Amino acid sequence: MSVRTLSSALLLLGLMAIATPVAATTLAIVGARVLPAPDVDPIDAGVVLVREGRIVAVGPAESVEVPADAEVVDARGATLTAGFWNSHVHFLAPVMSRAAPSAPEVLEAALAEMLGRWGFTTVFDLSSLQDDAAGVRARIESGEVAGPAILHVGAPFFPADGTPVYVRDRIEAAGGPSAEVADPAAGAARATRQIADGADGVKLFAGAIVGGEVGVQAMDIAVAQAVAGAARQAGKPVFAHPTNREGLEVALAAGVDVLTHVAPQAGVLDATMLERLHAADVALIPTLGLFEVELARERLPPDVVAQVLTTAVSQVRDYAAVGGTLLFGTDVGYIERADTGREYALLVDAGLDWRAILAMLTTAPAARFGQAEATGRVMPGMRADLVLLDGDPTRDPSAFADVRLTLREGRALYRKSSRRSRTDAGEDDGR
Ligand SMILES: [Zn+2]
Repeated sequence: MSVRTLSSALLLLGLMAIATPVAATTLAIVGARVLPAPDVDPIDAGVVLVREGRIVAVGPAESVEVPADAEVVDARGATLTAGFWNSHVHFLAPVMSRAAPSAPEVLEAALAEMLGRWGFTTVFDLSSLQDDAAGVRARIESGEVAGPAILHVGAPFFPADGTPVYVRDRIEAAGGPSAEVADPAAGAARATRQIADGADGVKLFAGAIVGGEVGVQAMDIAVAQAVAGAARQAGKPVFAHPTNREGLEVALAAGVDVLTHVAPQAGVLDATMLERLHAADVALIPTLGLFEVELARERLPPDVVAQVLTTAVSQVRDYAAVGGTLLFGTDVGYIERADTGREYALLVDAGLDWRAILAMLTTAPAARFGQAEATGRVMPGMRADLVLLDGDPTRDPSAFADVRLTLREGRALYRKSSRRSRTDAGEDDGR
């Protein structure tokens, strides 16, 4: 080993010693308005203590003592909530490729830009190519890069002759096998295999947009039931892409857990459909902003776009009114827009208040995906998955998109203005 490589190695060790949190250090977030959960009243000027990646104390300043050696985050003027879930994302960007891995700092910056910047500490990938979501997860969980907790569904299930028109090129370019399934037994076998290989759920295209004369290809009900049955047997959630009324019927017949989008093509949902979805305990991810982005890309006239959006918004409003579960999701990764501001504005249009939106971001997905004991609330014992917002979303829900700091298990995934990067750390060390 040359002197030069030896000194580089020592420098690296020094950096690692700085980056590794000392087990006994307490992080104290002081002065924020704390929103412990949607069903709990806010705490003004609260203190939250974090140790070893967990929340250890929460309360008003007068009742929580900050240890003298704590690292203090001055959070006055900000609002602290549990870390957000985005229950509909895709890891499709070239920097997220498993086959051609990008440098750690490049991947980390891309994850921060797409997710950490918007407060997401847990995400559900609803299918990527070539197992890329699993690849990104492995790099995060090994400690190589900072990023959110990732759940994923592996490869999707398309109807026979039902590969969606908007993914055909990507799938062909990736050279992957067909994700179409025509036979119930083959579908069940693939679902079982994918879950054994690490998938956290399955995704059915109950109605697939294929274009041309067919328009929307519905999945055969027996196939949908077989795939969903295999997932249920393994205790994993079933997602369905509904698209239209027939797709909603397939989703209901298969007993799915989550609809990945509203279905404006189905029109305004009548009371019977709303009740059937609610009785089946189906959760709905609106992805309202997606429709706006997609229809604008197709250059449809503004009045047509507005009409589709009005129908989409009405489905969210009506499902909330019957007590249906909503989960926050944006389809980021498929669409480029990472900014969540417009989605919050559309959810407000649907009549949702801050408590309903916070539930979609935290407690509802944590409960739906079996993690309610671990995350979703600012409460002692929970993982220190936290978001510090500039402004107060109880007064103006647009503040949900104005993130100052995102922590996953106490570790920063994003910090406004003084963004932490490997380069910055290196420069600091060299001084
Ligand atoms: Zn999607």
